[in-house]
Amino acid sequence: MQRKDNNIINKESIKSKVSNGVKKFVDLHVHTRHSDSTLTPEEVVDLAHEKGFSAIAITDHDCIDGITPSIERARAYGLEIVAGVELTAEDDNLEVHILGYFIDWKAEWFAKKLVEIRNTRVKRIYEMTAKLKDAGIDVDPKKVFEVSGPGSVGRLHLAIVLYNEGYTSSIREAFRKYIGNNSPCYVKKFKLTPEEAIDMILRLGGVPVLAHPRVLAKDNLIPTLVEKGLRGIEVYHTEHPNNVTLHYENLALEQGLLMTGGSDCHGMGKGDIFIGKIKVPYDVVEDLRKEAEKIRMTQT
Ligand code: AMP
Ligand code: ZN
Ligand code: FE
Ligand code: FE
Repeated sequence: MQRKDNNIINKESIKSKVSNGVKKFVDLHVHTRHSDSTLTPEEVVDLAHEKGFSAIAITDHDCIDGITPSIERARAYGLEIVAGVELTAEDDNLEVHILGYFIDWKAEWFAKKLVEIRNTRVKRIYEMTAKLKDAGIDVDPKKVFEVSGPGSVGRLHLAIVLYNEGYTSSIREAFRKYIGNNSPCYVKKFKLTPEEAIDMILRLGGVPVLAHPRVLAKDNLIPTLVEKGLRGIEVYHTEHPNNVTLHYENLALEQGLLMTGGSDCHGMGKGDIFIGKIKVPYDVVEDLRKEAEKIRMTQT
């Protein structure tokens, strides 16, 4: 199913709105302590309010537990919370992150599936710490779970422990030397395919969007994902320089995809808060909402 005509966010309209000092802006990619941000949902919402956002999407890795506390905190500010998630899938040894927006995050089947996925994340931490031990680095997995707290445990937590214990001089170095995708102590995650991730989000009445396509760096996968039901692509992202943004704007136009954007804020987990770096016009939220309504209509 090719979708080259619907709901394209006009590139010129985004540019002109941004340059005209658009009043209402949003950040559609924010993590909390329920995955691998150092910030609580309350802190995230306070920051977004301080920075003048009208809406943010809470998109924790494989976890929806940050959504309710964010909504509660945001109520007094009149800040809108878009219920989201960032699912990790795998294609041909590559991690593919699929964002879901306006999902039915209270669906019981999804909560159960997420528990399963998070259990595989716990197992993976044991596997990675075992590999580190073989490499002469003795990290107690319990320390990683202490850092992660409740929710999804991940490599960023392990990287923080490696850094805190003095094994690396930075979090980035922990990825580069030990647990990055091509590093010796990396362990792959799940068996979820991108198609399954997209299906799950569609089943939740949500809009599936490809996260940070530059990190994926496999553009020829995108048309296949569109065939499977992908509706959008994260064109605007903290790690996208202008030429990359332009490249993905063109690709979105070509493939008929919605253009979304977000900071991918992880609190201080990435050395900088990031919130405020990416400001996307509020219209994108409206477009995603409409797309979610359409998806739900086709399911009833
Ligand atoms: P996981 O879900 O456990 O695979 O961990 C993914 C987290 O690690 C995300 O927050 C990524 O942005 C982060 N990450 C992956 N590679 C790197 C890297 N080279 N440097 C810093 N963070 C990274
Ligand atoms: Zn993360
Ligand atoms: Fe991601
Ligand atoms: Fe993310």
